[in-house]
Order: sequence, then C-alpha cells, then structure tokens
Amino acid sequence: MTDGARLPGGAWPPAAMPEATPPLPAPVAIVGAGPVGAVAALALAARGVRAQVFDAREPAAGKPDRRAMALSWGTRLALERLGVWAHLACPDPITCVSVSERGAFGSIEFTCEDLGTPALGFVVDYGDLALACSHALEAAAIPILWRTAVASVEATANAVELVLAPDGGTGYRVGAPCVVLADGAEGIDGGPAPARTGRAYRQVALVGDVGCERFTPGRAFERFAGSGPLALLPRSGHFSCVWIVEPEVAQGLLEAGPAALARALERAAGPGFGAMRWLTAPVRVPLALRRAGRAADARVVPIGNASQVLHPVAGQGFNLGVRDALGLAAAWPLHGRPSSAAGDDLARALAAFAASRRVDRGLTVAATDVIARVTSIDNPLAAALRGFGLAAIDLLPAVRRRALDTLVFGAS
Ligand SMILES: Cc1cc2nc3c(=O)[nH]c(=O)nc-3n(C[C@H](O)[C@H](O)[C@H](O)COP(=O)(O)OP(=O)(O)OC[C@H]3O[C@@H](n4cnc5c(N)ncnc54)[C@H](O)[C@@H]3O)c2cc1C
Repeated sequence: MTDGARLPGGAWPPAAMPEATPPLPAPVAIVGAGPVGAVAALALAARGVRAQVFDAREPAAGKPDRRAMALSWGTRLALERLGVWAHLACPDPITCVSVSERGAFGSIEFTCEDLGTPALGFVVDYGDLALACSHALEAAAIPILWRTAVASVEATANAVELVLAPDGGTGYRVGAPCVVLADGAEGIDGGPAPARTGRAYRQVALVGDVGCERFTPGRAFERFAGSGPLALLPRSGHFSCVWIVEPEVAQGLLEAGPAALARALERAAGPGFGAMRWLTAPVRVPLALRRAGRAADARVVPIGNASQVLHPVAGQGFNLGVRDALGLAAAWPLHGRPSSAAGDDLARALAAFAASRRVDRGLTVAATDVIARVTSIDNPLAAALRGFGLAAIDLLPAVRRRALDTLVFGAS
C-alpha cells in the first residue's frame, strides 16, 4: 500500500486485513473520477454528502486525450455551479448549429437567439475537461485515491464489498453502504447484475482537427454525408472533426494519405468551406451502443458511460451523464451515514433516481441510435427523405423548439 492509496483517517485501511471487511469512512464510494464521476462527487458534496472516489489512473493521465466534446448550455450551467468551469482554460462557444443533408434541400439552423442564451454550448477537449474536474475535486477537498483500480463490486444484504487494487497490486476489500459506478464504457459492470447489452455499430469515428479556407467562429455543422454523419465543431480558427464512416472506408481513407483524405472530407462537408486540410492525424475510434444490465438497485448505481454508451452523432454522451450525476445527487436522502432505517431511505431514493432517469435515458439512447442508423443509409431516396424531414422540423416551430430544448437540457 502506498501513501497515495491511504484513505483519510490515518489508521485506515488497517495494516493487517481483519476477518471482517472494514467499512469505508464515507456513505458512498464512487468508482471512476472521469468527468461524470467527478460531477457526481461534486454534486453530492454540494448537498453535504461525502463520497470517497477511486480511479485507476494518474490524476493528469487524461490530459493527452484531445477528443473534442460539445457541452450543452445546460451542462455548462452545472459545471459552473460545481466549480469545474473555472478550471477550463478556453472553452470555445457554439453560437449556431447548422444541420443539413449534403447536396439536398432541407436544413435546420439553431442559434443562441432561439434559446435566449449567450451560447448553445461549448467545445472542450476531453483531456482539459478531465483535468478541470480533478482540480475541482481537489478544491472541494473530496477524498480521492488515484492509481487505485476497483477490481470488483458485490452487493450483500446491507452493504457493497469493493475489492481495491492500489497501484495494480494485491486486492483488499472494503465495505460501503452504496457504490456509484462511473467507470466508463469498459468498467467493471458491478458483480452479478445482468451483463451489459448492446451491439457494435459497423462504423468508426475519424477524429481530428481540420483547417479550412472559410471559417466562421462559433458556427458548428452536422452534415449527413451519405455513409455517415460528419460533425464540425468550431475551435479558435479551426474545426474539431468527428466523421463517421464504415470501417473499410476509414481504412481506405487513412491509407490514401493526407491529401486524398482532405479531398474526401471536402466532398463530405459539401460547399461553403473552401479547401480543407487535416491539422492532426485523424484517430480512429470504434463505436458501440451499450446499456448496463441494471439502472440502479438498492446499493449499486451505474451512471454516465457505465450506464449507457451512445453513438456520438448528437454529442450527447457526457451531457446525459451529467444529468445522471445531478439526478443522483438530487435524489440522495439527506442524513449522515445510513443506519438500517436510513438504508431503507437510500433504497427508496435510488429507486426514485432510476425512475426519474428512465425517460431522459431511454429517449436519448433511442434517438441517437435511430439518427445513427437513418443517417448511414447511403442512397438518394434516403437522402431526400432526410432532407424532407429536416425541412418539416424547421417549418414546425413547436417541434423545432422541442428538439432544441431536448438537445440542450435533455428529454423529459
Ligand atoms: C468520438 C466521440 C465523440 C464524443 N463527443 C461527445 C460530445 O460532443 N458531447 C458529449 O456529451 N459526449 C461526447 N462523447 C461521449 C463522452 O466522451 C462520454 O460520454 C464521457 O466521456 C463519459 O464520461 P464518464 O466519466 O462516464 O466515463 P470516462 O470518461 O470513460 O471515465 C471513466 C473513469 O473511470 C476510471 N476507471 C475505469 N475503470 C476503473 C476501475 N475499474 N477502477 C477505478 N477507476 C476506473 C477511468 O480511469 C476514467 O477516469 C463522445 C464520445 C466519442 C467516442
């Protein structure tokens, strides 16, 4: 056991492992200090509930991850309130989103005037967000053990047993009244609950930075470009690009070299950008839809990517995870460490949490899945129907407003 893996309270954990599993000195353990786990810990702390957080990585290990993420205005408000936003150096605002079918009639343009806010959202790198979350956890004095993987989680009648493996070493057990799983897409899935369900998309995302001749600050694009959607997110003077294509197409594009790859991107993006060029080598990210086998039971609660992994077409994965985390904190029973009576309160609160998240999670997962499938049908009839659908939404103010509210604040 290293000092870095020593829990607050000095004598804990004991040098020799006792027969009984020692309890954690906090009413809740959070597995994963990624952006969603961090938001959950901060939101619980804001309600006076202390969480003990564990993460397998180094605090700054996420920093090199330059995957761009679009944060909705709703997410920005939450991050500001929880003290994360102040640690983000320069989030790039999105003031307008143009959604269109390449080469067909029909498009929608959402602007911040539609929402009555200074921006619709912001673009940040995953690594910057993860680091800002680490700083906010530190500033809020939330106990966190880095380099401590949780190897397994098993619910018993009155508690949950976690097996910790600090620094990749031998595991030891601790008990907690409740465990929040925020350990991402490849997480441990929490013991004997039904395993995750889902399927791989026959698609990958090509992710990288792209420059172009004609760039308008603040303007984001979602182009339905035949074989899959293309998102261009505005940064300072360039775009972060998430381009969805079939794996074989991606392979061919990457083998064709930078110039051919740039011409292919120009064709997918359509007119209006001028010559485009890749500023960073595109990274290939496989895509899958996954859902946890449980929403939340009496003591183990998956949130964020541990609960659902979405197709990135609508940029909703983290935004949905933030709403999970805020919903959990809002549902938490407000007393100290749960006694057995309070344990009943906890079970009721977690059931209420699961029920309160059903619609937003269900609709967001289903909508992104449908959009992902519909936008990857590559034929002229499908393209015409998509264009018609966009035009119809644009002509119906109530539908348009509903679509925007759902994108920014979630489904209800
Ligand atoms: C190409 C692409 C583009 C995307 N764009 C957007 C976007 O524009 N907007 C958006 O909202 N979302 C987007 N997403 C989704 C977003 O990245 C995820 O939803 C988000 O990162 C999930 O955060 P998380 O904290 O749940 O999981 P993660 O970010 O995966 O964090 C999990 C944490 O748990 C830790 N961990 C894992 N296992 C263990 C263990 N056993 N013990 C201890 N710690 C553990 C890890 O070290 C990590 O720190 C995109 C995804 C992709 C692939």
